[in-house]
Amino acid sequence: MMSFMRRIYLDHVAATPVSDTALRAMTTAMEKFPGNPSAIHTEGREARGVLEKARAEIAGAISAHSDEIVFTSGATEANNMAIVGVVRSARANGVKHPHIIVSTIEHPSVLEVAHALEKEEVKVSYLPVNHFGVVSPRTLRTLITPETVLVSVMYANNEIGTIEPVIEIAKEIRHARKMNKTVYPYFHTDAVQAVNYCELNVQRLGVDLMTISSGKIYGPRGIGALFVKRGVLNEPIFYGGEQEESRRAGTESVALAVGFSVAFAEARKMSAQEFKRVKKLRDTLTEQILKKVPGVFINGDLENSLPNILNLSLEGVESEALLLYLDAVGVALSGKSACKSSDSSASHVIMALDKQNEENTGSIRFSLGRETKSADIVYVVKEFLRIVPFLRTMNKQSDTI
Ligand code: PMP
Repeated sequence: MMSFMRRIYLDHVAATPVSDTALRAMTTAMEKFPGNPSAIHTEGREARGVLEKARAEIAGAISAHSDEIVFTSGATEANNMAIVGVVRSARANGVKHPHIIVSTIEHPSVLEVAHALEKEEVKVSYLPVNHFGVVSPRTLRTLITPETVLVSVMYANNEIGTIEPVIEIAKEIRHARKMNKTVYPYFHTDAVQAVNYCELNVQRLGVDLMTISSGKIYGPRGIGALFVKRGVLNEPIFYGGEQEESRRAGTESVALAVGFSVAFAEARKMSAQEFKRVKKLRDTLTEQILKKVPGVFINGDLENSLPNILNLSLEGVESEALLLYLDAVGVALSGKSACKSSDSSASHVIMALDKQNEENTGSIRFSLGRETKSADIVYVVKEFLRIVPFLRTMNKQSDTI
């Protein structure tokens, strides 16, 4: 007899399912608008109209102008475009030795770009975070030089959920611009994980460039966007056709843009209410685990964080083993291995937290989402309480062999 195991998906930071509304809108667009939006004929003009409507909707939702939204293939491309594009244009603009600042807990699509640019004679400073994973705008001030062309600090971290002080950082940057008497530094924020829950008005945030992505907000994967404020100098990183006002070559996907805009509007509409609902579930999960399982440490700061993320390290438990046992009982989550400097799968975010005194056995991340219910949390806690002591006993036994 076939048995269907219940699955509880708690990995929404990695990928969200596509919402029904976004999926329907996308299917319709794919069927009805086959034209290339750059073509002059009726089909092309119709496709262009739909693409521009999607762009205008996303722009409107963050208080930007339509011409400030450049569609990309996702967040990785948008982050690359923001950083490489600004450095290239700064060089073209006469900055001989461009300097950039990125935080130590950025996603690899920012950090690896910084590492690659270091090999091209770009000076990079790494802005540290405190015990909770938060950067200090005051420390940032000390790192800015007259050659600093870009500061990139993420809005909300994808591993521990910490929300960074974007508005304060923007203030520091405006101050630095006045002192430098140039247009630099610009401020870029990777807001990929913030879209579901946080303020996104670019005027209020004071950002110059902002990365957003569809695949983490219940839209289709394969599309994202970079907000580039009017006047910001940002050379393209792809060359080819004149799409996206010559800022990003390659035929746009009308259907993906439609799905993205519908998902974006939905996420923004739900954000305040979902924040409260998901936070309550996450807090119950945290309380239950902390009350009933000893030797558990929270990575990050639950007060100043996305409401859907709980990142934990556990004494005497290998994170991979725990993830596999949880998966076997129907619970999907992600994690990183123990922090040994030689181990490339260890978390650079957890290592960046100033936590020298705590043994690190790896980390696990619960990330809740729209379909997470309180019954799911009850089940996850029950399984967690069963598996963790079992793994600890196994660990002790293997130590004594
Ligand atoms: N930035 C952040 C904060 C992310 O969480 C992710 C994906 N986990 C990315 C960038 C990269 O997104 P993608 O792989 O979809 O390009």
